[in-house]
Amino acid sequence: MPIRVWDYLPEYDNERKDLLDAVETVFRSGQLVLGASVRSFEAEFAAFHGARHAVGVDNGTNAIKLALQALGVGPGDEVITVSNTAAPTVVAIDAVGAVPVFVDVDPATYLMDTAQVEPAITDRTRCLLPVHLYGQCVPMEPLELLAERHGLAILEDCAQAHGARRHGRVAGSIGRAAAFSFYPTKVLGAYGDGGAVLTSDDEVARSLRRLRYYGMEEAYYVVETPGHNSRLDEVQAEILRRKLQRLDGYIDGRRAVAARYAEALAGTGLILPVTAEGNEHVYYLYVVRHPRREEIIEALAARDIQLNVSYRWPVHTMSGFAHLGAGPLPVTEELAGQIFSLPMYPSLPLHAQERVITALREVL
Ligand SMILES: *Cc1c(COP(=O)(O)O)cnc(C)c1O
Repeated sequence: MPIRVWDYLPEYDNERKDLLDAVETVFRSGQLVLGASVRSFEAEFAAFHGARHAVGVDNGTNAIKLALQALGVGPGDEVITVSNTAAPTVVAIDAVGAVPVFVDVDPATYLMDTAQVEPAITDRTRCLLPVHLYGQCVPMEPLELLAERHGLAILEDCAQAHGARRHGRVAGSIGRAAAFSFYPTKVLGAYGDGGAVLTSDDEVARSLRRLRYYGMEEAYYVVETPGHNSRLDEVQAEILRRKLQRLDGYIDGRRAVAARYAEALAGTGLILPVTAEGNEHVYYLYVVRHPRREEIIEALAARDIQLNVSYRWPVHTMSGFAHLGAGPLPVTEELAGQIFSLPMYPSLPLHAQERVITALREVL
């Protein structure tokens, strides 16, 4: 049996009745778009984070895009972020006409190196966009000080960090706004696309609700500033409501997989994930590092075990962003040649995980 780096089918087997009931609930509700399930999910997702508002949108990329617009970021403004991230972080910055400015990452955690942010601030900088990569939070305290001192907004990219905490604060509750993806692989995943923006700022929330609905107030069909159609689907919202109830369990499952990897792979020469002090990691990905990456990936593929690389091409090196002339980013560029991720999802069967461990120990 092949082992995939991610698979939702074991979860579907476990949760099938509840998921199909969610679909039936929406189909029977009489309102298929922006109905009771979206409203309830928004209230429950906001409450989970202690935020005043959650606004459901169609995907994580548009969550970032709409959040930037709602924060007043537009053409020519600079947004400081990282290149070791999923391309959509940067695509969303580009989509609002803003300019991504990259800082390098920390060589131990692979997260934004916050010491490099202040020197990157110019009079065009409007927003700091830390990415809580792989399931743990960027050390936010220095960014909060900088945002305060320079009058900048913080937008957290939480697409990989549902339920992660830093010094007790949950990811998404720290910045002025936070963007989430519910792409199926994520820690809280839908059965299709979905996203949300969290904020405790009433004006930002109002602006987000307009932006996802053509630019109109829902009850008042006049466009003041043209927006988008970026609504969260009602069926996905109902599925997400049910899965939000189980989020702590999914995170526990991921941590159990991570703990087994950490114990079994210590001393093999693989560089294992490092959790920053004060962080509670949710292990969206289990990212390891080794200079002979390609050989290891091939050897495991020969044993029917799929590994993945997140990310093989730093965003600033992609041809679509060559015009920025960004870089060099030495840590990001070196990591990109050595990191890879092991199979990780909460319902990963124990026997499959043991096969991964045995194969890695043999190859190393
Ligand atoms: C998945 C992801 C996104 C984009 O989310 P989509 O729902 O796929 O649009 C953005 N940022 C990061 C860090 C991601 O992992």
